[in-house]
Amino acid sequence: MNLDDYRIADEPFYRPVADEIALFEAAYGDRLPVMLKGPTGCGKTRFVEHMAWRLGRPLITVACHEDMTASDLAGRFLLSPEGTVWHDGPLTTAVRHGAICYLDEIVEARQDTTVVIHPLTDARRVLPLDKHNEVIQAHSDFALTISYNPGYQSAVKDLKESTKQRFVAIEFSYPERDVEAAIVAREAGVESGLADVLVAIGARSRNLRGQGLDEGASTRMLIHAGRLVRAGMPIETATRSAIVLPITDDADMREALSGAVAACI
Ligand code: ADP
Repeated sequence: MNLDDYRIADEPFYRPVADEIALFEAAYGDRLPVMLKGPTGCGKTRFVEHMAWRLGRPLITVACHEDMTASDLAGRFLLSPEGTVWHDGPLTTAVRHGAICYLDEIVEARQDTTVVIHPLTDARRVLPLDKHNEVIQAHSDFALTISYNPGYQSAVKDLKESTKQRFVAIEFSYPERDVEAAIVAREAGVESGLADVLVAIGARSRNLRGQGLDEGASTRMLIHAGRLVRAGMPIETATRSAIVLPITDDADMREALSGAVAACI
């Protein structure tokens, strides 16, 4: 099997925030499973893309969702003109051929998926495929990375302790102001003055967390606002569309947020 489609040819822009690059390299060197922990839109996916490029490994990303089962990851028999044929799932492809497998928001998937990854995350490094009557020893280049957003979790939907404890965690949060402004300027293609204003708006929105907002504006939202301005929208419209409206449906909260935005513009 050729994993060329999963190789990342050009360096994905990633601005380090702390020692996350060295940490990931050390973990990958020992093939330790890694958990990227932090709120949405703060660079976890971009980071893993950058690391796959840096390490020269193919990257297989799976966006987990609530209907996802263990078979979606591992594989299944499908009907074909020749009869029933086994098809490896994305996790199995990574395990067999030596890719980094990134399970984005694994907590969203059904419980049985976590059982599948357990034997891969300890010294055994095996993937049992019961339906295919096969136990795969992971390729020496295979590594597992998951993302986890602690803010979303409820008691009913959380990773089990026994799963969490298998991972080395790297914490992600919103970067320092000047670093975030550099990211916004680069990713949105706007000048630094505007990026500074957007980052100030982001900081204010994050202060409203816990007062009716579950999460403040993510770096991704600030970039979207910057792109709307670059496309010719006035900053008031851009920030309303990219930040205020998507983040809350509550009228009072919108007003509070709009006030915070107005204070920065
Ligand atoms: P997550 O996976 O945490 O939800 P993403 O990795 O998709 O978030 O980040 C959203 C966007 O924010 C990215 O597409 C990228 O443009 C930008 N971004 C966030 N942090 C960084 C960073 N440290 N370096 C470069 N870009 C970043």
